[in-house]
Amino acid sequence: MGLSLNFMRTENSVSEIKIKPEYLRGDWLVGFGWDQNQWPNQQLPHLKTLDQFFPDRPVFFSRVDGHSSWINSVAMREFKKQGYDFSADIIGGKIYHDQNGFTGILSDQAHIKALMLLPSFSDSQIENFCLTSMKIFNQAGFTHVRDLSMTSHLWKILCKIQTAGQQTICIDGFITAESVSDLPRAFSEYLDCEKNKNPYLRIHGLKIFVDGSLGSKTAYLSENYLNENNSGLISWSNSEIQQAIEFCWSKKIAIAVHVIGDQAVHQVALAARTVSSKGYEGKIHLEHVQLLRPETLSILKSLHVTIHMQPCHWLSDHLWLDQALSENSMSYLFQWQKIVKNKIPLHFGSDSPIEKTSLLNNKKAIEQSPNLNPKVRIQKLESDFKAYHAHPDSAWTRSKTVFNDEQVIEVFFDSKKII
Ligand SMILES: [Zn+2]
Repeated sequence: MGLSLNFMRTENSVSEIKIKPEYLRGDWLVGFGWDQNQWPNQQLPHLKTLDQFFPDRPVFFSRVDGHSSWINSVAMREFKKQGYDFSADIIGGKIYHDQNGFTGILSDQAHIKALMLLPSFSDSQIENFCLTSMKIFNQAGFTHVRDLSMTSHLWKILCKIQTAGQQTICIDGFITAESVSDLPRAFSEYLDCEKNKNPYLRIHGLKIFVDGSLGSKTAYLSENYLNENNSGLISWSNSEIQQAIEFCWSKKIAIAVHVIGDQAVHQVALAARTVSSKGYEGKIHLEHVQLLRPETLSILKSLHVTIHMQPCHWLSDHLWLDQALSENSMSYLFQWQKIVKNKIPLHFGSDSPIEKTSLLNNKKAIEQSPNLNPKVRIQKLESDFKAYHAHPDSAWTRSKTVFNDEQVIEVFFDSKKII
């Protein structure tokens, strides 16, 4: 329902945008999904293009991976008013400059910091988004999702929807904490959610982002990206990761960590082992784990870890991964078979799906991944992929999806047929 930018074929495609009320947050025009890799010159877009078409309104356009944003001069002025400093880089983030100054691009922590300053959606906008997205999920065969950007505000709106008999998705929630100093705020949101009972909602703990994405070359690797003097970004230090894990485990709640690169996964595994050796015990969820080294796997085996992966990423990523990663790094990609073999709980789905919502695409990715690209060898998943798509607590969701290779045929939610 929001402004999707995946229609863009060049930077100038923004001229085709016709503004609708659901695209706005306050008076800000907010969009998602541009990808310069789909454009002829494959260069990052520039602020002056947005200024040309949107001279009077603040604009905030997130990249397809959710790790960068492209903004205009009015947005820059608004952020400055709120204390955002464009002159200094921030840890784990980048503010892009050229000879004329700021180029309009913010990445990772610089992007997140700006995102947090946007005006919020109205309650009725959020309610409509929830109802529409539940429909999209149900039609695609899903009866449960995980929301790792849960807020107590969203939780309250979902409770209202549930009371009206309109909730058709079970949701596992985590609250995102942006930094060590943000942990207490996130925990109090957790407690707020816990207070409001809803049979279809469960709150589990807090979530942190420690690295970026492969598409932005900010996923944190043990080796440089191919032909680059860059191995990605890590936005939390080892001691901060430990503090976050210890904070959650000492409060008997779970922690989820966004980790894509092999070195990010490794550092989080080491941090969790250190906290566990201090006598704390708790659950840790690792999101994506697109690259995983064998020595990391053996550390993970001794922890209460669950790994969440999105197979569908493989379908879009395999086309360019051999141009971004060394051969060595490629041997760590998509280790689902080894994870299962080592008896670490594996679930398909992750903190923030940026691919089309499709059970069948995940199935296709699992079936085709061993043979799709001879340059990027992926081990075949030996067991039935459905085992990793079903919710582990079937008594909670009491749901069922009937599908074949081509389509979803029937969906039952809480024993009622909804599709
Ligand atoms: Zn993520």
